Amino acid sequence: MSSPDHIADALLEWFDCHGRKDLPWQHDRTPYRVWVSEIMLQQTQVATVIPFYQRFMSALPSIEDLAAAPEDSVLHLWTGLGYYARARNLHRCAQEICREHNGEFPTDPAGLEALPGIGRSTAGAILSLAMHTRAPILDGNVKRVLARYHAVEGWPGQRAISDRLWRHAEHHTPQERVADFTQAIMDLGATCCTRSQPRCESCPLHHGCVARQRGRQADFPGRKPRKETPQRRRWLAVVTRSPGEVLLEKRPASGIWGGLWAPPEFDEEIAARAWIQDIIGLPSDDCRVDAPFHHTFTHFKLEAHPVRVHCEANQADATAVNIDAEGLQWFSLHPPPAVGLPAPVLKLLTKLGAEPF
Ligand code: SF4
Repeated sequence: MSSPDHIADALLEWFDCHGRKDLPWQHDRTPYRVWVSEIMLQQTQVATVIPFYQRFMSALPSIEDLAAAPEDSVLHLWTGLGYYARARNLHRCAQEICREHNGEFPTDPAGLEALPGIGRSTAGAILSLAMHTRAPILDGNVKRVLARYHAVEGWPGQRAISDRLWRHAEHHTPQERVADFTQAIMDLGATCCTRSQPRCESCPLHHGCVARQRGRQADFPGRKPRKETPQRRRWLAVVTRSPGEVLLEKRPASGIWGGLWAPPEFDEEIAARAWIQDIIGLPSDDCRVDAPFHHTFTHFKLEAHPVRVHCEANQADATAVNIDAEGLQWFSLHPPPAVGLPAPVLKLLTKLGAEPF
């Protein structure tokens, strides 16, 4: 084998004995299956991803199925995984591949990286794992292994640091057995070179690892500079009606919860109450405010206060408002609808569905 140094040889030898070979996306490794797994695995642990991946693949087994699916169905399959921009990009990307590339993935890095939601590392994973083309990857696990092995100081979110890590990744990627190498270095990060308490004594990179030699494993990769996470308070207009329905609106495609269905959101309680009065025609005094629920996003913490009102089946028809024209829709709560729902909203609807109507 021609490898640039001993890392590839040591990793491949370790992979043959200890690597993971039975993950759902390791069977029938097509570009489509690898791509979906890579997008799901961004920001999400393997154990969490597996059931979502299996459900997604049985519903949408090919890129043509994904491209032809309604966005609501794709977002529904993503409900609970978070970071919904990934699902929207996945859908757009499938449509672009079917429209512009006859349903075939481009076979070069530039062609792949020009597609929505595919960055350099995802392109590298598709090329190496599904096409056996030499291309480096740099996902979270690989960053950790390389940052420790070479003792690369600094936070990889900074361009200069990630450029250094990419140079190491490029250098270590072998010409042969590139799919196994890619899987091996990801597996090492996931099972041996773990975030806390890495198992250095059983690591195949033990001898050359600078962080281990210096006893500084916990310092790599460097952490993001800390900033206080701001908190946002919002009021959700939660309107239910007999015999067990809830009024939801589809959020605009951009922004948090983009493309998902949720109760209308307001900056102030009074605005939520006024909206309910306009749409449903019930006085503001009929509303009650439930205890808030909390959800943490990457950039802020949400404190959401449900402003609740319940009406009879034909109550909303008494106002001049056209529900459809407002982008609103009634959905049954038994069970919650099969559309894209943010996880905390799904929880809220499940709770509402358990209440007597
Ligand atoms: S020796 Fe330890 S710190 Fe270094 S790569 Fe292996 S597991 Fe990670």
